[in-house]
Amino acid sequence: MAACGKCVNGVIDTGNNEIPCDCAAGNTALFRIASVDGVVTGAESRRHFHNGSPEPIATSGGRVSASTLPGRPRPFHETVVNALERVDLHGLESLLRLIEATKIPKGHDAVLGALDEVNRRLKGMSSGMRKKIRSATAAILLQKRMQEADAGN
Ligand SMILES: [Zn+2]
Repeated sequence: MAACGKCVNGVIDTGNNEIPCDCAAGNTALFRIASVDGVVTGAESRRHFHNGSPEPIATSGGRVSASTLPGRPRPFHETVVNALERVDLHGLESLLRLIEATKIPKGHDAVLGALDEVNRRLKGMSSGMRKKIRSATAAILLQKRMQEADAGN
């Protein structure tokens, strides 16, 4: 990244604290913010925490998790549950294939619940498609069991 002349790797040290520079390097520089768990990028810092932010995050004395900031990529189980809640018969098969091919680190029960709900919600599903739902369900249950075994449970 070319230096903009005002910052060091996107960070401006005011002497009291470090703030993200307005340049491109500032967008991807990482910062720790009081009352936030986890690091935020300079772009997120400007968007949510600077004066006049368009999407201010109210921390109101508590702590917020950086992973919940709007615009942050979310964990797979959250995005896939969201997709399952909206899927129709045309999109279901590719979603099931994605689920079966993906290592899901957590949130297995949420995905299983969403698959159950799809099974109930979508009418006129072929027996082949119901079989694919069962197959995806079995794959998630297997991942869940393997993780529990790894954790020594
Ligand atoms: Zn800069």
